Amino acid sequence: MKDRILVTGGTGYIGSHTVVELQNAGYEVVIVDNLSNSSADVVDNIEAVSGIRPAFEKLDCLDFAGLDGVFAKYPGIKAIIHFAASKAVGESVQKPLLYYRNNLVSLINLLELMPKYNVQGIVFSSSCTVYGQPDKLPVTEEAPIKKAESPYGNTKQINEEIIRDTVASGAPVSAILLRYFNPIGAHPSALLGELPNGVPQNLVPYIVQTAIGIREKLSIFGDDYNTPDGTCIRDYINVVDLAKAHVVAIARILEKKQKEKVEVFNIGTGHGLSVLQLVHAFEKATGVKLNYQIAPRRAGDIEQVWADPALANKELGWKAETNIEDTLRSAWNWQLKLRERGIQ
Ligand code: UDP
Repeated sequence: MKDRILVTGGTGYIGSHTVVELQNAGYEVVIVDNLSNSSADVVDNIEAVSGIRPAFEKLDCLDFAGLDGVFAKYPGIKAIIHFAASKAVGESVQKPLLYYRNNLVSLINLLELMPKYNVQGIVFSSSCTVYGQPDKLPVTEEAPIKKAESPYGNTKQINEEIIRDTVASGAPVSAILLRYFNPIGAHPSALLGELPNGVPQNLVPYIVQTAIGIREKLSIFGDDYNTPDGTCIRDYINVVDLAKAHVVAIARILEKKQKEKVEVFNIGTGHGLSVLQLVHAFEKATGVKLNYQIAPRRAGDIEQVWADPALANKELGWKAETNIEDTLRSAWNWQLKLRERGIQ
């Protein structure tokens, strides 16, 4: 029988790609999602890509009794990948309590239910934001955690601590915390991708919407940083590569290969790209000229960060594989497909 995995937030951007990769690797997936930032059609698209329809339950992870019911309805769930969370940095500053409630209570509910249903482990979506501006680059997992810049970032830090404290208390669960760098791109089929709500806050969604004419011009936030071309540097990781990191993390938990009950891995390429380099890579990959201007710095931006992914390479046997041009082309093809479908 296939091992059954619960994926919260499984119709979201990273979640949907991960569901497909789990299915490709032979797992049976149950999705829980409240559809607050995604739509039920994603389940159809997952099926169109993988050939397998995942079980889907529309549910908010704040609903403890509802979650309990999901574990009872799908017996034998072996592990959880927990994506479901509110993720808009700016909104979290406006509505901190909403963010603390959604992001903390959801995780607490899952951790409370895991022992009852003999769920062995949880893979948690964390973020390189926990490092703030690192003192040394590339940043390793050993780097100190810096004070969070936003309530959203703080929820990632607190959730890491909640997991550590729970495991340290002797709860019969283990965990892998994946600290993502900047996930971008879409599935090569162009059937799955990122669907931003309103005006995109992230760079690549803004680029593709500008390229197709939804936005007039990309604003590059600052060209006076202490970097070679003055624009900020990030480590852009292809979303399918990122999805595959979750699959190996799940296998590591189920095969009991963890060296510690809570492990942390950076999930990035190991290469930093500046905003201008990314814009030029997009133009080269797609042949589309991008309208952009230099604008003032955005409050709270980190100057430069990129991963040292050596630990994930060695321990998980995982490595980012897709080059930046293919990744940017996939984001563009996804945007073209959205237009074709009359969505955006
Ligand atoms: N950025 C930009 N214009 C935009 C959106 C983002 O210049 O419209 C820059 C942003 O300042 C940062 C980089 O692109 O240097 C990545 O930003 P994003 O919000 O995608 O990710 P972050 O690393 O901030 O989480």
